[in-house]
Amino acid sequence: MKKKKRDLGRRLAGVAAAAALSGAALALGMPAPGPAVKIAQALLLACAVAVLAFTTLRKSGIPARILAGLLLGAVAGLVYGPEAAVIKPVGTAFIRLIKMVIIPLIFASLLVGVASLGDLKKLGRVGGKTIAFFLVYYVFAVGLGLFLANTLKPGSNMPESVQARLKAEYGEAAGAQAARAEKQPGLGEVLVNIIPDNPAQAIGRADMLQIIFFAMFMGVVVTLLDRKKMQPVLAFFEAVNDIMIKIVEIVIRLAPYAVFALIASVVGAFGADILMSLLRYCAVTIGGLLVLAASYPAAVRLLARYPYFKFWKGIFPAQLIGFSTSSSSATLPVSMECAEENIGVSREITSFVLPLGATINMNGTALYQGVTAVFIAQVYGIPLGLGAQLTIVLTATLASIGAAGAPAMGVLMLVIVLRQVGIPLEGIALIMGVERILDMFRTSMNITGDIAAAAVVAHSEGERLKPKIKEGGVVA
Ligand code: ASP
Repeated sequence: MKKKKRDLGRRLAGVAAAAALSGAALALGMPAPGPAVKIAQALLLACAVAVLAFTTLRKSGIPARILAGLLLGAVAGLVYGPEAAVIKPVGTAFIRLIKMVIIPLIFASLLVGVASLGDLKKLGRVGGKTIAFFLVYYVFAVGLGLFLANTLKPGSNMPESVQARLKAEYGEAAGAQAARAEKQPGLGEVLVNIIPDNPAQAIGRADMLQIIFFAMFMGVVVTLLDRKKMQPVLAFFEAVNDIMIKIVEIVIRLAPYAVFALIASVVGAFGADILMSLLRYCAVTIGGLLVLAASYPAAVRLLARYPYFKFWKGIFPAQLIGFSTSSSSATLPVSMECAEENIGVSREITSFVLPLGATINMNGTALYQGVTAVFIAQVYGIPLGLGAQLTIVLTATLASIGAAGAPAMGVLMLVIVLRQVGIPLEGIALIMGVERILDMFRTSMNITGDIAAAAVVAHSEGERLKPKIKEGGVVA
């Protein structure tokens, strides 16, 4: 009986997939949006939703469902073009639902995390190792980006006509980014600004660094006070933490549909011709990010003795969410869930390393900035000597640390890198058209780096990492 049902299910999925493919072929092949195209488009959308609903009913794992949403969303985006934006609100609603838990989650988990580290010595040790891992990876990531851009030279020989077209089309957007970056405070001010003069305002403005500072400070002080007296406080924040995690578990069930909507609207808005003219640049950046992607499980294998592919599998849902939302912060609840449930890192470590990582550790962004700075310099024919390249390593690291975990922050902070080495800011116009797609790739690497750091630090603290995936669990 069960087998029969499964066969029927498979056949249905096959029919839906075939119908979706023919719908896509039909819609793509039609020159003008006549009634046949409309029918084909409607057919395709219906099939996509049917496949998603079907995978949900079949209780396929969340990653498989999100992946289905991603692929179907890409097809729908190609077929519908900019019209696909109508379903974007589904994705936006999901992002808002996840963002809704971020502040209470960060606050509660950091406070409890720091307090449960027990003593300041342990906090210092864990903090030191975490920052060391972040920094070493930063240098590796920018170095890799510079190496690839210098050897593969994506920016030399870009036709003048393409340059002119890109500058005309995206000049305004580039100007706006540069103007926004002008308003960024200097390093000293950034450091002082980490201290919130009003924690309520910090929460209201969602200023992550200030929230992190306040929660950690409170956590430290809890360890200094009488344990018994502090017990209710800890129990309260632990409960808040549990509630937030439960909300994430519920909300993540919507992820496949949200990813479908988000990807469809991005792909729909994205002109394929822009991609073609910047193909070499995109290929070098994405290639570099993929090398970075392959290096994380290797580092975790080496430093935390955790199986290479199991790491991949465990963090895949977080990577997919990072990819579709382009926001490390919005992905944080899912990365915490993956690190704890799928990799087996203790809550003590995840609640310390991951919020910090989502805010200051962005290796993917740093690699992207390295490649992009060299790319723009090559297009303008500006030679970059060793000194300039070292400056890029330093400024890209600082700029990525300072970048918030939100969409398009990497390109905003790129202004700092370009200015430091004297590369014209108008160059940003060249890459604005493909910015979003690269943001998706670099964000998923940013969060991979955070989870890798959590795994390595946990292992070094004597934790034996073991996946704790429940049967039919929500995350995997
Ligand atoms: N979107 C990235 C993140 O949230 C930051 C960036 O723009 O590079 O990690």
